[in-house]
Formats: sequence, structure tokens, C-alpha cells
Amino acid sequence: MSQPNKTNSFYITTPIYYVNDVPHIGHAYTTVAADVLARFKRLDGYDVFFLTGTDEHGSKVEESAKKNNERPIDLADRVVQRFKSSWKLMNITYDDFIRTTEARHKTVVTQLIQKVIDKGDIYLGQYEDWYCLPCETFWTSTQLDPQNKCPSCHRCVQKLKEESYFFKMSHYAKALLTYIEDHPDFIQPVSRKNEIINFIEEGLRDLSISRTTVLWGIPMPITDQTQTSHIIYIWFDALINYVSALGGSQTQAFNNYWPNAIHFVGKDIIRHHAIYWPTFLMSLNLPLPKKIFAHGWWTNEGEKMSKSKGNFIDHEVIAQKYGVDSLRYFMMREIPFGSDGDFSEKALIQRVNSDLANDFGNLVNRTWMSFLFIRL
Ligand SMILES: [Zn+2]
Repeated sequence: MSQPNKTNSFYITTPIYYVNDVPHIGHAYTTVAADVLARFKRLDGYDVFFLTGTDEHGSKVEESAKKNNERPIDLADRVVQRFKSSWKLMNITYDDFIRTTEARHKTVVTQLIQKVIDKGDIYLGQYEDWYCLPCETFWTSTQLDPQNKCPSCHRCVQKLKEESYFFKMSHYAKALLTYIEDHPDFIQPVSRKNEIINFIEEGLRDLSISRTTVLWGIPMPITDQTQTSHIIYIWFDALINYVSALGGSQTQAFNNYWPNAIHFVGKDIIRHHAIYWPTFLMSLNLPLPKKIFAHGWWTNEGEKMSKSKGNFIDHEVIAQKYGVDSLRYFMMREIPFGSDGDFSEKALIQRVNSDLANDFGNLVNRTWMSFLFIRL
């Protein structure tokens, strides 16, 4: 066996999943897609590193834990077990599972934020804007939907004003645009790339990257004049997982895998991955990941799935009913990766019967492949 080198390494990541939610088909879709690619690349002789994990800080987790009368870490531990057992059921072959509450992650977050502070790219200011608590995201009034609600989840937003440290994101807008132009495959599919270009061209503001109202998180390595402690904004904490899982930016693992990093994300978090993350890496003088690919969403028999409707499809139930491989095959085959699609049990049964049982089954041997048939 030859030694792994830069050219045959392959680094694939899923987003780290927020522990204020339990695993559902949305998580399973990204994770299965990453798993399929990881398996394919391993077969093709690549040195693969497949990372998934959990995002465990922030006000939502803090609030939920309070309601349950437990510590945030106890809530996180519980939900992490749910994710891990779900990925076991789905035959996910991840190489590492990172948790943002782990010391190895916190150390790297603190180091990298400190570097950006040392560079002069972080300053203290006042933040006032519309905040969507479920999305943990600030919006300007022009970004709100026509009902003045969150443009992403369409829930009510609240006006928040607080002292905050800012990251000079605006400083990197031009460099990011140039990079996207020079690397046409950096953001895919092309519809998402155009969305990001438009967003940058409308003007990037500096980004608030700390909170004083949240306790459950990683502290900023600096304090302001009033000695108020600031917690690092959850998105910066979370995005750094892609580097902290490699032990930081100065390790052999980083040198080996980072040049070939591919981030799979849902289209709802493309802005965080294709703007916040690259500009932060630029400030750190680190190379950008090779590719960010945003996939679409599943509807449930034509209806959008949401927490408020309580209509998220439980992939575990489907996998137990029809078999893990049938579900995995359906998710990968039914829609082109990047587009939206509709999930229904009827479509799954049809897809499995026609593709796997009929076409593939006949090809091999009708008799012994017939176990794949699912009775309608
Ligand atoms: Zn929202």
C-alpha cells in the first residue's frame, strides 16, 4: 500500500446537526449522500475522511434544557446518542463524529478566533437588528419576508440590541467574489452560486460574532471595558468544526485533507457556508474548501416539512419498514442531487420495485433477487 498523499485524499463533511432537534429525514438525506460518496471514493482508492457531528451550544439548547430542568450538556449527551444510533441503523461509515462541546473543538475555536483578533479583523460595536431565535440568525429589515417574519423559517423575529464583537466580513467581499469567479465549481449547484453572488453584490456588512445574552457557548478570548463576558456566536463556533476535527490548521491531517474538502449542506445554510466561512478563512490566511454543495429539500407528500407542522418523516420508521438499502437507494435515485423532491411511501415502493426488483433483479436472477419485492 502506498502512503496517502495530498492528491488522493478526500474529505467529505455533513453539517454538524443541532441537538435541539432529533434526527429526521432531512439529516438522514445529507448524511446518506455523504456516505455514498465516501464509500465510492474509498472503493476508488482514495484516502477518505468522512466527518459528521453535532452542534451543541446556543440559546435554543440553553432554553430547552431549562424547560426540561436539566443541564444543557445532559440534553446534548442524550440527543447525540439519538444521532449516533440513527447513523448506525442507516449504515453510515463516518470516520469521525465531532461534538462542539469537546475540548479538542473548543481549543481550536479559541485559537482561530484569537488569530483573527490579532490580525485586527474583530472590533467591538453595537448590534441592533431582527433576530430569529429558531434559526439563530440576524436579519436586516429588508431581508424579512413580506409579513416581516424570518425569510428562512417564516416565524416571528424580535428586535435585539446588544454590545457585540464584529468580524470585518465586508473587508473580504471583493476577494470572495473574485474567488467565486475564478473557481466556477466552488459553490454548486449554479442556482445557489448565483444566489450567493447576488447576496454579496447587495453589500456585505460586518458580522456580529459574539453574544452577551447567551451563556451556553465558548467564551470570546477577550473582554470589553465593562468586563462583560461574550460568548462566540454559534455559527462561528459550529463552522470551525471542519478544521477542529483535523486537530487545527497546523496538523498533518489538515495539510493532507483540507485541500480536498467538500462540504455538503442543506440549501437553507448555504449563506453561512459560502460567505461567513470563506471570509473567516481568508482572514486566517487559510485556503478555502474545494467545494460547497447545497442540496434541496424533501416535501412530505407535497407538503413542506416543518417542526410546527410536526410532519417530519422519521427515516428510522421507513428504514425499518422497507429496509435501509431501499430507503438509501430511493433518496439517491429519486431526485437529482441539488433539486427538491417529494417523499411518499408510494413513490419509494414504486422506485424499489421497478428499479431494483424488476430491472436489476431480472439482470441477475429473477428467482434469488425476488426478496427485494415489496408487496403493495
Ligand atoms: Zn427563522
